[in-house]
Amino acid sequence: MDYRKKFAVEPGAKVRLSKIDASYTGKHQSHDKALPEIQKHVERMDKLQYLLYADGSQSLLVVLQALDAAGKDGVVRHLFSGMNPQGTSVFGFKQPTREEAAHDFLWRAHLRTPGKGEVVVFNRSYYEDVLVVRVHKLVPHSVWSKRYELINDFETMLLRNDTTILKFFLHISPEEQLSRFKQRLDDPSRNWKISESDYTEREFWPQYVEAYEDAMTLTSTKRAPWYVIPANHKWFRNLAISQIIADTMDEMGLKLPPTRVDLASIRRKYHAAEREAKRDGKRASKAK
Ligand code: AMP
Ligand code: MG
Repeated sequence: MDYRKKFAVEPGAKVRLSKIDASYTGKHQSHDKALPEIQKHVERMDKLQYLLYADGSQSLLVVLQALDAAGKDGVVRHLFSGMNPQGTSVFGFKQPTREEAAHDFLWRAHLRTPGKGEVVVFNRSYYEDVLVVRVHKLVPHSVWSKRYELINDFETMLLRNDTTILKFFLHISPEEQLSRFKQRLDDPSRNWKISESDYTEREFWPQYVEAYEDAMTLTSTKRAPWYVIPANHKWFRNLAISQIIADTMDEMGLKLPPTRVDLASIRRKYHAAEREAKRDGKRASKAK
């Protein structure tokens, strides 16, 4: 199954999250059965990240968006921990600081976009400025409603600078969210993650759904697509996202850079002594 085809939001298509099953797992039956496939994709991602870094002419930006407890942190931990930290980074977007809030909403994101050869994961992103900001009316309608176009322009600029962009919405049901909050409550090592606002935000679920649907409808493009990932099952979420990232990186045309030196001459010049020592060693052992 090609999950890029299955889960991509077609440009301009109206997204209706209520029509998408958050518990979908396709033909896969269990975590155990899917694990070898997940591992295969993660290994492909790691190899391709090495190639991206060596190639040095393109970059990859992965945007993760979701409601609380949908698994953004899990995706980072499970899928990106094998990439070389030299060339990979993750940035989490919180409430803007005073300095950030004093600038345009894309400023803090632009500072963190990947340079050539780099992979950057945004754990939340500039999309918060048409999500939480819209839901809680932090700026007037006339301000947030113009941001979709600004986001499209911003992403076009990144694309023209050879950045590949992938945007994932992790789709969970409100029941699954509540059950994950409960698990956090029951596990002392995860108590620190709980905040009361996680619960109060649940009252705004329909408004968030509407905001996400509009954001994806208005900003999913052929070259910077949104994917709606069924995420009630953590392992399926990891499977779909790892496949989409690896397949996309595969098509970036990444190449090892050409060798800058004459290898034969380097061998002759600097490794001759080593070869001779080996030859002498062999002769000595034959003579015994
Ligand atoms: P967490 O991801 O759980 O660490 O929480 C980060 C919090 O920062 C979330 O509640 C986000 O909604 C909030 N946040 C992120 N970006 C913005 C923004 N531009 N304006 C207001 N709140 C934001
Ligand atoms: Mg939170």
